[in-house]
Amino acid sequence: MIRINEHYLKLQASYLFSGIAARVNEYQKNHPDREIIKLGIGDATRALPMACIKALHRAVDELADDATFRGYGPEQGYLFLRQAIAQNDFQARGADISPEEIFVSDGAKCDTGNFQEILAQEITVAVPDPVYPVYVDTNVMAGRTGGLENGRYQNIIYLECTQANHFSPEIPDRPVDLVYLCFPNNPTGATITADALTEWVNYARKNKALILFDAAYEAFIQDETIPHSIYEIDGAKEVAVEFRSFSKTAGFTGTRCAFTVVPRKCRAYDKTGSPHELHSLWSRRHSTKFNGVSYPIQRAAEAVYSDEGKRQVKDIIRFYLKNAERIRQGMEQLGFSPVGGINSPYIWVDTQMDSWEFFKFLLEKAGVVCTPGAGFGACGQRYVRFSAFNTYENTEKAMARIKEALK
Ligand code: PLP
Repeated sequence: MIRINEHYLKLQASYLFSGIAARVNEYQKNHPDREIIKLGIGDATRALPMACIKALHRAVDELADDATFRGYGPEQGYLFLRQAIAQNDFQARGADISPEEIFVSDGAKCDTGNFQEILAQEITVAVPDPVYPVYVDTNVMAGRTGGLENGRYQNIIYLECTQANHFSPEIPDRPVDLVYLCFPNNPTGATITADALTEWVNYARKNKALILFDAAYEAFIQDETIPHSIYEIDGAKEVAVEFRSFSKTAGFTGTRCAFTVVPRKCRAYDKTGSPHELHSLWSRRHSTKFNGVSYPIQRAAEAVYSDEGKRQVKDIIRFYLKNAERIRQGMEQLGFSPVGGINSPYIWVDTQMDSWEFFKFLLEKAGVVCTPGAGFGACGQRYVRFSAFNTYENTEKAMARIKEALK
């Protein structure tokens, strides 16, 4: 008899965004004339930078000629892209990361979800609350948790992020083996200072723990005192893996390109306590289960680092941050105390009521979609997340409608 992986049965019924989509579709069906403005899901809406489009065209033409055609590429990614990443994202910021420590992939979602596969079943796992749901769900699937009770899985250590700690998780008062951190944060938009990140790195070093650092929103950092990479912190290379993505940086949500940094020095331990290089384990896993991102997409990603690409990416980020500023100000004027939206495309708002109720209220009274904070964890119960990924006109219109609805 074929049996299922019963850990999947512990998962909450639907992934957050499918739940939202179902409610929005239902509402639209009953109100076909109502124009709905989506400030919910974090999907890019601006076209790819022209530098990337030009690189894509050139690469496609290469594939049209036997002499320049490329089939399977290196599983880890083409060296031209890994070199551009190492130089621009790390070495230029004083972080000594080499191209061989970079693994190009088709998404930070897959990588943040899959990385736990190379770690032991019985490790203790800590996640911030609220959190990007992928970290939790993939540990549930892997069987590292018990069932769901009051919105929380047994055996996961939740690090509460609230107004009191400025939405930055506090160091646990006991040793944990694996910690997920995400800065700039989805969903709260919070950032972390170099001092606070240093404390995390020191904690991980002391406890022989591993930090999985998700920096998918790094490109939104405007304040130059905020670290862009965990490797700007001394000693981080021994205890941290970093995830990056071109999705939000340059609009690759549909074309798919991301990368993961696994430094050579980063270690985890077997049951006898002997250290092993995570780099070689991840390399083994990546090359066994993944066959590389397509050549034209890697060329397009490389173009992000050209002078033209850098200028265009800056323009796109500035565009989204203007929307974020508009939402933040708008919510402030309406008497809320929003956070985020400065070094991040997300604005996190305390609604003083149940987040799904507020979501429903905004949908029905304003035709505006936000994301209920409860979908990100128990600490999001009273919050909603607004996303800046829309046009400025729609953002303006949405804020005017919310103002009207709240009168
Ligand atoms: N990490 C975080 C925190 C995200 O919010 C997202 C997407 O919303 C991702 C990773 C996924 O990135 P990608 O498009 O590269 O899979």
